[in-house]
Amino acid sequence: MTADLPYFRYHPDPVGSGSIRASAESCACCHRSTGWIYTATFYTTEVVNASFCPWCIADGSAAERFTGEFSDTYGLDGVSEQTLQEVARRTPGFHAWQDPHWLVHCQDAAAFIGEVGYTELAAHPEALDQLRFDLRMNGWHDASQLEHFLTHLGEGPSAMLFRCTVCGTHLAYTDAS
Ligand SMILES: [Zn+2]
Ligand SMILES: [Zn+2]
Repeated sequence: MTADLPYFRYHPDPVGSGSIRASAESCACCHRSTGWIYTATFYTTEVVNASFCPWCIADGSAAERFTGEFSDTYGLDGVSEQTLQEVARRTPGFHAWQDPHWLVHCQDAAAFIGEVGYTELAAHPEALDQLRFDLRMNGWHDASQLEHFLTHLGEGPSAMLFRCTVCGTHLAYTDAS
């Protein structure tokens, strides 16, 4: 974690996840060169290079000025309107094959940790179990195929790992095509 960056409740280590990187580039919103620049998704109908500094993301000024959102609110069911706004407009998105979205646990959005493969996922057995359950629910009925898919995560499709901001449980979804 990088101490001088603003704190993002739902994306606590955006440098570690690759969404923000060290750069001399100036921010498209405040035009300052803060040493850090955003590299991931931004959805807007305006034509803008979404190179924002972390501060313009954190205070909502980038989303407001360019009328955009950093990620889809798809799947954020049962969370408060305040949380929806914070995730969509004041939290860095992330790099994913599909559009990034957030998971929910304990009626709050979970914190995005990063894109992981099987080894990292297996370090959090509850996340692996939950993912296995979700895939079964989505039609993966062949157990050996399912295990093959899970153990090869990170070699093609990967998993997006989250941690509940309330109880600390890890959870994940797969970013498969
Ligand atoms: Zn800025
Ligand atoms: Zn929880």
